[in-house]
Amino acid sequence: MELIIGRDGATAKLKVVNDTQVTLFGEAASVPSDVSRQHCQLTAINDNTFVIRNIKSANVTWVNGVEVQSKRITKDDKIQLGQSRFDLPLEEILEQMKPNLVDIKPLKQVWEDYSKATIAIRKRQQMNNLLSRIPIFLTMLGGLLIALSESIRPYSITFTVIALLIMAYGFYRQATDRAIDKQERLKKQFQRDYVCPKCGRFLGTIDYDLLLQNNNCPGCKARYIK
Ligand SMILES: [Zn+2]
Repeated sequence: MELIIGRDGATAKLKVVNDTQVTLFGEAASVPSDVSRQHCQLTAINDNTFVIRNIKSANVTWVNGVEVQSKRITKDDKIQLGQSRFDLPLEEILEQMKPNLVDIKPLKQVWEDYSKATIAIRKRQQMNNLLSRIPIFLTMLGGLLIALSESIRPYSITFTVIALLIMAYGFYRQATDRAIDKQERLKKQFQRDYVCPKCGRFLGTIDYDLLLQNNNCPGCKARYIK
């Protein structure tokens, strides 16, 4: 993390720039004009240690009452800017600038369960389709055999009976099939579960691996932890 801290030209609020993200702190006109627009730079070494550095040597920066050009500091140090010693709200700034991260690993399981269940429903539908075609096939085959051979004619009744049985089984399966309800429930459940753990936004019917490639939540912009 590297922050550029200074006075916002338009509002005279404290302005903190993190990469391209600009955050303003405090009331309008709360920052005196002896704080430059780009006054100092704050670089994180770790969670609690930072280096504060004047951007121009003409700027004045104080650490615990001592004027510095560049100094290693912690959260607890008192930082002031400019000759009029504007108190820098360091803790507030660090709190605001905390990286916005969200762990979406639990969604991997949600996605896998959803796609498995969806495939199972589709396979069942495929099986139903197949079952409805077998009797037609048997009937046609029976007709063909009868036409071809005298001797098979007495057995044609067997084909018809088998075809009817399969047909009846197919009707039973379709009549008892709750695939549509199941699919509807599954979809609702998925829309409840496949959401950003931070802001709760539904992340869409997108494969988990593709989701990770998106890098951040389209709602709260939290970055996904890889
Ligand atoms: Zn979010």
